[in-house]
Amino acid sequence: MPAYDPNNIFARILRGEIPNRTVLETEHTLAFHDIMPKAPVHVLVIPKGAYVSYDDFAANAPDAEILDFTRAVARLTRELGVDLDNGQGYRAITNAGEHGVQEVPHFHLHILGGRNIGRMID
Ligand code: AMP
Repeated sequence: MPAYDPNNIFARILRGEIPNRTVLETEHTLAFHDIMPKAPVHVLVIPKGAYVSYDDFAANAPDAEILDFTRAVARLTRELGVDLDNGQGYRAITNAGEHGVQEVPHFHLHILGGRNIGRMID
């Protein structure tokens, strides 16, 4: 696991050094609009703790943080109108490392919706 870079863009957003368009904030989780949206709905969900990737988060975060994050994702799909009770669905993806073409080395989940996303996201 590469060392966590405390100066990555999302760490700076969490410290309030860079503005963001917040959609939801909970005790352990922040969700905000992607700056270069690839779909009508494109929200990034991040834990407030310092984790590089999904596997880092899933293995090392306290249970309370994982639960908070997971429930925040469910709440977001409803509030963004893409959940399967009220909307037409979404894709949730996370990129890790070089082969995953991860740009920002702070674990984040992309929620994409508002159109048919197709079979692959570049
Ligand atoms: P990834 O390739 O999964 O690391 O994607 C990083 C995402 O972060 C990209 O979709 C970028 O458009 C997005 N992004 C980069 N900088 C910012 C920022 N300051 N605010 C919101 N989204 C950003």
